[in-house]
Amino acid sequence: MKKFIVANWKMIPLRAEAKALVEQLTSKVLAATNLPQIVICPPYPYLTFVQEMFSGAPIALGAQDCSSHEEGAFTGEVSVTMLKECGCQYVIIGHSERRHYHQESEEILRQKVEQALKQDLTVIFCVGESKLQRENEETYAVIKRQLEALPEKISHAPLVIAYEPVWAIGTGLTASFDDIKNAHDFIKGCMKKIGQETPVLYGGSVTGENAQEILSLDNVDGVLVGRASLNMESFWKICVA
Ligand code: PEP
Repeated sequence: MKKFIVANWKMIPLRAEAKALVEQLTSKVLAATNLPQIVICPPYPYLTFVQEMFSGAPIALGAQDCSSHEEGAFTGEVSVTMLKECGCQYVIIGHSERRHYHQESEEILRQKVEQALKQDLTVIFCVGESKLQRENEETYAVIKRQLEALPEKISHAPLVIAYEPVWAIGTGLTASFDDIKNAHDFIKGCMKKIGQETPVLYGGSVTGENAQEILSLDNVDGVLVGRASLNMESFWKICVA
């Protein structure tokens, strides 16, 4: 199976920067072979033009979040149907920044996953422990609880898990290779118990310099990249790592 390289642009690039990034990426992708599955997750207002700029290059579009509702009077929300209309095939759900800044509960996340799966969007579901939880040796209990928020009966659903230790996101700190391997084994084991063979990505300060070693770990099926995805030189290094 192809590895996944997922770019989370967060609320960072403005239109001109987004345009330049996707222009550079598209020309590199069109000239390359044997690439991983690249997924770009821009801010909502840029989804449509980014999708149009892919110009047939094998790059997939993803959203950074979605509403837990199907449709209706939910000011400021964006439904999964709208994301599909913009060309999204993927959606990130449960990113730690959403859990933390928007107090997204396990119940809300479960509803979001249900909405996305109903419409066949591939869900990139983020899990991971905080620094304090890690210091208290609660990493596995936290991951287990976060995975339990996934709806029951999701066997064979289009689902990818991203293990993103919160303390490694945007900090320049990465988990050790042993920590990554162990967490990914644990996640794969939990998912097997509910009948899912789920790819597991690592996220947390992945760069052009460390990507190759991380991606060469057995049970790492790809990476979720924040900051380094906003510099095409670094991001491309990750794509070809
Ligand atoms: C992220 O936002 O999911 C992430 C992993 O960010 P960074 O690569 O900047 O740590």
